[in-house]
Amino acid sequence: MRAALFLETGGDLSIENVEPTAPGPRDVLVQLEASGVCHSDLSIKNGFVPMMPGMILGHEGAGVVVDVGAEVTKVKKGDKVIASFIPACGVCIPCLGDKSHLCDSELEVMMAGRGTRADGSGYTAMTGLGTFAEAMTVNQSSVVKVETDVPFDQLALIGCGVTTGVGAALNTAKVHPGATVAIIGCGGVGLSVLQGARIAGASRIIAIDQGEEKRAVSTSQGATDYVDGLQGDPVAQVMQLTSGRGADYVFEVTIGSPEALAQAYGMTRKGGTMVMVSMPRMEGQFAISTFDLFYSEKTIKGCKYGSAQVRRDFQRFVDLTETGRLDLGNMVSRHIKLDEVNDAFGAMERREVVRSVITSF
Ligand SMILES: [Zn+2]
Ligand SMILES: [Zn+2]
Repeated sequence: MRAALFLETGGDLSIENVEPTAPGPRDVLVQLEASGVCHSDLSIKNGFVPMMPGMILGHEGAGVVVDVGAEVTKVKKGDKVIASFIPACGVCIPCLGDKSHLCDSELEVMMAGRGTRADGSGYTAMTGLGTFAEAMTVNQSSVVKVETDVPFDQLALIGCGVTTGVGAALNTAKVHPGATVAIIGCGGVGLSVLQGARIAGASRIIAIDQGEEKRAVSTSQGATDYVDGLQGDPVAQVMQLTSGRGADYVFEVTIGSPEALAQAYGMTRKGGTMVMVSMPRMEGQFAISTFDLFYSEKTIKGCKYGSAQVRRDFQRFVDLTETGRLDLGNMVSRHIKLDEVNDAFGAMERREVVRSVITSF
């Protein structure tokens, strides 16, 4: 099958033919219908998140189950599934506590060998998935069946960006009706946070990015204000918009840099909550004034995969899409072929797209 492999830091992905392993007893084979190209793929490609080369990238996909191992119980052939980039085993302590985003089986699933390249070397798959391929052999814990006619290009987005962002608002922060929300970064995940805040009933949603490109798309998704970081200090601009109080909930959805986190903390109101949604560099640190933390009683939260229980939330987000309360169609900027995946990284770096989605493998 054809797949796009990460072979060296900074280099283009290699599109090549590989031989996947046959599904083990608890594995399933999924034919991919759509795969989003996410910023986290770029973070591995450019070395921000160090990973061993020899890996099919891609972790945001949807498709159809075409084969199952003998002991598989969670899905069957013909099921429409969305891939979960953190497995949900259903039996570990986090899973039993409704926190499948912290599932203990994550590392084991991620490290599994998934097949052989033409030169005989083995390969792994990003997060145990590898959606930049015609098909993927995955642990049954890594897929969630959904029942819907929502098109696959939109379902794929639920696998990462949408669940991360909407979940950050609904699960991690639990945005309350009437809240003031600020979101730093209006890429695919940031716009999903924005939609989550809108669904939660926030009265004011301040979208923040650099430049004017994201003004139209963020306001079309429900932002009530847009702050251009190139037109002055974003913290000062948010303070001005909120009568000097700051926002109840601030989401940092860029790359988790110390500067962005300091801005997020700075624009959080007294007693408010700041949520770091982005995937930061592994060696990153963030310094805050301990006196300010005491005095202002702010809450700082990490957010992994939107604190999602995927077996509950994937269908929930599908239902919100079917009823028009979640707009995923607007987030698909381009349909591309697998061969164009390297160009999609360029488009992402030039900030031309919310999401490029591979729909032809
Ligand atoms: Zn992602
Ligand atoms: Zn688990």
